Amino acid sequence: MPHVPGLPPEAQLLAGLARLGQAVRMEAIRNAGPHNLSPLQADIVSLLQGSREPLRQGDIVTALASTAPTVSDAVRVLRRKELLEAVRDPGDARAVRLSLTPEGQAEAGRLAITSERLGSAVATLSPEDFTATLRGVVTLMRELQDRRLIPVSQMCLTCRFFVRDAHPAATGRPHHCNYVDAPFGDAELRVTCPDHELPAAASAASAASAASAASAASAASAASAASAASGASAADE
Ligand code: SF4
Repeated sequence: MPHVPGLPPEAQLLAGLARLGQAVRMEAIRNAGPHNLSPLQADIVSLLQGSREPLRQGDIVTALASTAPTVSDAVRVLRRKELLEAVRDPGDARAVRLSLTPEGQAEAGRLAITSERLGSAVATLSPEDFTATLRGVVTLMRELQDRRLIPVSQMCLTCRFFVRDAHPAATGRPHHCNYVDAPFGDAELRVTCPDHELPAAASAASAASAASAASAASAASAASAASAASGASAADE
């Protein structure tokens, strides 16, 4: 077989993933909404909406693989827009945690609606391609999390309720979620799930892991955001 020009296959896949990430970022910029949210501000609102309890600013830095000054600026703007409020930390009288105001919750609801442009593009995948893509994405995410290159996500593969291949493959729904006590297939794997819980041992290690991932990912995140912002009218800070 003659030599195929261009980068090797692994690099081609990573280039493709980077382009997809760019498309998602660009759509987030277009979807600034009535509060003119930047992608990071939108990520913070969505993160708080999916959290069972108010978060410390440091938790947000870790979860979004960002930096303290960047998140601090975004939080300040979100508080000025009256989408976030600070509540006293029950475990530390000197600290505060952040939660959504009612207006912030309404904004989170708007952000949870999948972009029609991106959703319709995903809908063109065949069921087989959709399943294979989702399976590949979560497998790669799990590997990158294990290598501490990205923060731990609330996904099935790191969840204490997840039982892989608990049922015969012929059923088409081989995995089991012990939280809802139901079988499910690769096409229903969750990348982010509000009911996710880490196994006890992993939970203790996750803070250190996430901090390391945040450090590694912050440079890439900044480069990505700068790249996305260069091609669109940016929302305010
Ligand atoms: S609780 Fe959510 S993340 Fe955990 S196994 Fe069930 S669906 Fe997956």
